[in-house]
Amino acid sequence: MNAIELFTASGDGPHAAMCARCKRVYPSDIDRLAESCCVCPICGGAEDAGKLHWECRFAHHKQAENAALASAQVVPYVDGWIYSVGVLGYRQDRFFHDVTELQEFCDAAEVTLPERVHPCTEMPYTGLDMAGAIERMADEHSEGWQDNLDGIAELNAAADAFNDLNKANVSYTPDTQRAFIVADALKTTE
Ligand SMILES: [Zn+2]
Ligand SMILES: [Zn+2]
Repeated sequence: MNAIELFTASGDGPHAAMCARCKRVYPSDIDRLAESCCVCPICGGAEDAGKLHWECRFAHHKQAENAALASAQVVPYVDGWIYSVGVLGYRQDRFFHDVTELQEFCDAAEVTLPERVHPCTEMPYTGLDMAGAIERMADEHSEGWQDNLDGIAELNAAADAFNDLNKANVSYTPDTQRAFIVADALKTTE
C-alpha cells in the first residue's frame, strides 16, 4: 500500500520500489519489503518514518511473556534468584533475590503476589580471554606480527589474577521454560 514502483527513464522495470512515507528504496523483494516499510508489524497501522509504535511492541512483548509464563513447566522452588513478569520489584527489573523478597515487596507496595514466577539460570563468569584478544588484533596485521609482541607473560598473569578476583561475579537470566507456584514456594521457606 506504501510502495511506489520504480522504472528506468525508458519505462523498463520495475527494478525497485520506494516506500511512499520514508522514501527508502528496496531493490529486491519489492512487494514484501517496501509494502511493510513504515507499517507497524503488530497492529498493521501506519508508522511515520522513524517513529515506531512502541506501545504496540511493548504490549505484544508483554503478551508473549505472559503466554510463556502460563505454559512453562511447573517445577519445585529451589532457593535463589527469580523473575516476575508482572512485578517490577526494588531494582525495577523484575528480578528478586528469592521468593521471600518477592513477598516482602508485594506486601510493602500493596500489589498482588503473582501466582507463578520464573526461576533463574546462573550465568557464570566467563573470564577475560587474552589469547583471543591478541588473535583478533593479529588478524589485522601481517603474518607473524604477534611473534614480536613483548609482555605476553605479564599480560596473562594480570588476566589470571583479574579472573581469579572476579570468578564469583555471576549474573542471572530468567529460565522462561520453567516456572514455580509462588504460594507453594512460600510454604517451603516458612
Ligand atoms: Zn518507510
Ligand atoms: Zn501499532
